[in-house]
Amino acid sequence: MKIHDRIFGTLSLLGGSPNDGEPFTPEQQELYLSCGFQIAQTFEQLVTVARLRQVSASDFRRLQDLSLLYRITQLLHSTMAANELFHLSLSLLVSPDGGGFHRAMLFMVNERGGTIQGILGVTRETAGWLLPDGLPPVNSPNLPIPEDIQLAQREAPFSREVMQQRLMMATSESCLAKAARTQKPLLISEEFEHKQPPQSPCRQLHIGDHACVPLLSRGRTLCVLAVDNADSGETIDAERLRFLEMFAGQAGIALDNVQLLQRVEAAHRNLRETQEQLLQREKLATIGEMSASIAHELKNPLVSVGGFARRLANSLDRQHPGRPFAEIIQQESERLEKMLEDILSFSKQRLLCIREYRLQTVLEKALQLERGHLQQADIQLQLDIAEDLPLLQGDAEQLEQVFINLIINACQAMKNGGGGELAINCRRGLLRGEPAVQIDISDTGGGIPATMMRNIFNPFFTTKEAGTGLGLPISHRIIEHHQGEVNVINTARGACFSITLPIYLNRRAIDPLQLRKPLDEKD
Ligand code: ADP
Repeated sequence: MKIHDRIFGTLSLLGGSPNDGEPFTPEQQELYLSCGFQIAQTFEQLVTVARLRQVSASDFRRLQDLSLLYRITQLLHSTMAANELFHLSLSLLVSPDGGGFHRAMLFMVNERGGTIQGILGVTRETAGWLLPDGLPPVNSPNLPIPEDIQLAQREAPFSREVMQQRLMMATSESCLAKAARTQKPLLISEEFEHKQPPQSPCRQLHIGDHACVPLLSRGRTLCVLAVDNADSGETIDAERLRFLEMFAGQAGIALDNVQLLQRVEAAHRNLRETQEQLLQREKLATIGEMSASIAHELKNPLVSVGGFARRLANSLDRQHPGRPFAEIIQQESERLEKMLEDILSFSKQRLLCIREYRLQTVLEKALQLERGHLQQADIQLQLDIAEDLPLLQGDAEQLEQVFINLIINACQAMKNGGGGELAINCRRGLLRGEPAVQIDISDTGGGIPATMMRNIFNPFFTTKEAGTGLGLPISHRIIEHHQGEVNVINTARGACFSITLPIYLNRRAIDPLQLRKPLDEKD
């Protein structure tokens, strides 16, 4: 029985020959051959019809899946919040007129920690809370995803069990970790899962035959989706896995969009904050300019008041009742003069005069000037300067001012405690990977309260009655101009200010307007 070179079988005709044992006649042979051909043709038709039926059934299923995916995709892209997207995705997978699976679980990949963490599980029952009427029709308005339903889904017993699952991405033998690592969908049979250790998530969650698919975004695994049909025991075939894979593709894009939006929002927030800070700085700069000109205007009359008060005090007899008043005027105007000087030096752009200097000489000069303060407050000095310190480049005069400011602060902090110890330690170090020198100035004055730590470098922040709050901001600015760093920590007994100065200044990084005298070739 043959048609188009295709043989379906053989037709054997047995029995008595009508010609008394003679072979079949040529006419009979032709008749039997044509019977064989007819039978083969009928077989061929039957096979074709069966094939056609199969093809149209699978085409129909594919068409159904595609139109379902279209509806699902519309819904997934209707939300821009990650949590809403998780609840919606799993509910759609489980809804009878959606993915039709019985349970769906979501596991999130934490790249930094190298772990996979269960974040949500949805069953037919809990999916029904979000989609009580099944899938909304195409082009219907955005689906509400109320917070209380999200909470109820998360708090449901199955979801809680999912949330307790956590595994190591690189080493776990679980199918979830494998799907995350290989970035491929997996179909897992119940028998396979039973060979896994009892603590594996799928055994803990009593998952039967199931499928896992990764949610990918630009080559990275963001999450792993797992579905099973635990209640019905229905197997998940290759077609269903294909559907799940397409679903995961769409959910991955939606999640990617959500993350992009979050990033854009964060960048926008940063921009707004920076803009506000800039405005604030502009305002501060204006106030600074104003205070500089006021300070300038006040300084001359104040010097005269102080000078005349001194003359008046000197001209009065010691017993004269007016003398103490004249002395007070003199002291207070000196204090105000110092304050005005600080304000002027903070608000004025001081030019740098860069030369090579010996750190030891600068420190010794600052200590010499403050020796009186140290003795008055009964402070012991521990000076430890490494011998191999190189010559540094910078404005020695301004750096001396920094050391004086820090020494005065240390003395003032220790004054109340009745003496103490001031330790100055200088040694070679590194700054941004380049050779540098580190100067630590530590005291035993009790340190700086944690709540104040972030404010001490802010202009006008002071805890002292007669303070200006400008010593540290001025010092900070000078060190910054020297491309160095100032840090402060509290030690067991007091505060420790660490200054790190680069040995060589980066000439190109210095604003030419900051320079008082250009660097000569020798420098
Ligand atoms: P001022 O000395 O005029 O207050 P500063 O800017 O020099 O201004 O210091 C700001 C504040 O930082 C001080 O009022 C003080 O509260 C704190 N501070 C600075 N140095 C020390 C220190 N060595 N120990 C404790 N507190 C300090």
